[in-house]
Amino acid sequence: GKARLCETRPVRTTCPYCGVGCQMDVHVKDGRIQHVLGAMDGHNEGSLCVKGRFALDFTAHPERLRAPLIRRDGELVPAGWDEALDLVASRLLALREEHGPRSLGFLASARCTNEENYLFQKLARCMGTNNVDHCARLCHASSLEALVQAFGSASPTNVMADVVNAEVILVTGSNTTETHPVFSSRIKRAARSGATLVVADPREIGLTRHADLWLRPRPGTDIAWINGLMHVILSEGLENRDFIDRRTEGSEELREALAVYTPAYVQTATGIPAADLVRAARLYARAGAATILYCMGITQHTCGTDTVLALANLAMLCGQVGRPGAGINPLRGQNNVQGSCDMGGLPGVLPGYGRVDDDAALGRIEGLWKMSLSKTPGLTATEMFASPELRAMYIMGENPALSDADASHAQARLAALDFLVVQDIFLTETARLADVVLPAASALEKDGTFTNTDRRVQRVRAAVPCPGEALPDWRILNLLGPRLGVPMGYDRPEEIMREIALAAPIYGGIDYRRIRREGIVWPCPDQAHPGTPILHRETFPRGLGRFIPTHPQAPAEVPDEMYPFVLGTGRVLEHYHTGTMTRKSEGLNRIVPECFVEMNQEDAARLGIAHGRRVRVASRRGEISVRAEVTDRVARGHLFIPFHFAEAAANVLTNPALDPLARIPEFKVCAVRVIPE
Ligand code: SF4
Repeated sequence: GKARLCETRPVRTTCPYCGVGCQMDVHVKDGRIQHVLGAMDGHNEGSLCVKGRFALDFTAHPERLRAPLIRRDGELVPAGWDEALDLVASRLLALREEHGPRSLGFLASARCTNEENYLFQKLARCMGTNNVDHCARLCHASSLEALVQAFGSASPTNVMADVVNAEVILVTGSNTTETHPVFSSRIKRAARSGATLVVADPREIGLTRHADLWLRPRPGTDIAWINGLMHVILSEGLENRDFIDRRTEGSEELREALAVYTPAYVQTATGIPAADLVRAARLYARAGAATILYCMGITQHTCGTDTVLALANLAMLCGQVGRPGAGINPLRGQNNVQGSCDMGGLPGVLPGYGRVDDDAALGRIEGLWKMSLSKTPGLTATEMFASPELRAMYIMGENPALSDADASHAQARLAALDFLVVQDIFLTETARLADVVLPAASALEKDGTFTNTDRRVQRVRAAVPCPGEALPDWRILNLLGPRLGVPMGYDRPEEIMREIALAAPIYGGIDYRRIRREGIVWPCPDQAHPGTPILHRETFPRGLGRFIPTHPQAPAEVPDEMYPFVLGTGRVLEHYHTGTMTRKSEGLNRIVPECFVEMNQEDAARLGIAHGRRVRVASRRGEISVRAEVTDRVARGHLFIPFHFAEAAANVLTNPALDPLARIPEFKVCAVRVIPE
């Protein structure tokens, strides 16, 4: 039984699951979590979803890693910390000696704190390589490329609470009720209080029930309908002339490029009725303030960058950015994916987004670290898996063996490395392939900060002790750094944050004393600065916003006779990513115990597949066995499979074809067939 609330000690911390970053009080007794309550004074106003409230029990799971493991005679066996760290250091140094620093690859982690990501990329760069990346490559790399080109900065422009100021909310490619549940409640509340909700999504999702208008494009046709909205806006003279003149460049080129996207053309190209397109265009353009919220449904395509550029064009055309209720918001998925990007867990940028090939930015970091660094941008995560140059990887808190497109290939690549170190809380599918496994603390067992999709830097506080000999990632890096010739010597995460404030000017005024309960929204350049809930108010970071017209492109793989269905992957509310945490949570696993494929009723009837029956789903890359969920949530010819399940890994099927700029795989479209079992 659980202890009574009055017998417990509350610890205020940040939810370790999604980018909403709910504040919670974790009630603890005798080193165990007893209750979890939403913090009334947090930005989440006391709300938590099922994951935050009930799924922290993974911390006490018997399979947690309790000691370092070293591979001996093919088996992973327990070892002491010194032995494991000495082995990691000697192997990494030897491989660097033999093959050069670019033979080493580092995956940082959106699960870990800012302080840990900062130390991790510092370790990589000080070893002479910028080969450091993380799973942001698989979610918002397209946003990063596109919004930097359009605005000069890729972060969400408005805090979540600001959605109440929007008259029109356009949600596209975001299944918000399942992936950002507490934020979705806010969106639904705004819609009930009079905001107009427009949802554009090929799949019927929780929010479509609350929408005033649901646009249902065929998968992979987003650029066509977004261009169509702009065509209508321009032909009806609904654009914001003043904003275009004062704040942007390239509008004439855009106007020319949009001429062909008539409502009739868009109807044929996307399946969206012309009248609905016109209505959506008028709603968005005429709103006093309109916001765009988008997610992986937009970014995980070979044309992801171009699709985000189209959204940026739309926002600028109507002046719907840089004001309360008006913005463009790539919703950040993981608890700290925003923070790991901010910390420079990316191959091309340093902490605070200075480019590695910019002399001034690099010089500043070299001065701070007293090291000379490489100015050659490193490999992206997806390139690391393709590059024969790579000999060793150090993976902190990521599970690419399940999360990468064409997962069988990723697993083979990991197994073929000369040396693989994995630092994690469980023996994940990736850790099983490692030469050394380092046992890490979970978010409930360490101090630090996470940065949520608001750009809000919030505190993480240890509530329970680490299991066995597991250590917080920052401590592990602190022990390993000197063995690799990288000075560390930090006693507390707070000290690391002081260095971050010097390295990343957007964090310049952020320290633990100031964060306290509220958190601080960056940019916060100095101690007197209150933080910045709305970006781009007066100007864009690049000066003028830049219109860059884009045009639809077919997905890399389209259905044919052999593989007649379009598969998209995604998430369910009850599970999280590769399931490392939620599939170790008893309650959640009971609610959603196994993988499934959503299939339209007509398709199921044609193939003689009954609801609940097992089917095999096969692509050119592999095959999995799942339960059929017969539903009209997906349109005819379209399938949906969540990617949380190791035993039926959706990414065995997905296509690793990449967006040419963002190097993000096309998780949202591949061709498959379905075979009844
Ligand atoms: Fe945690 Fe996200 Fe749920 Fe909030 S919405 S409780 S941050 S998983």
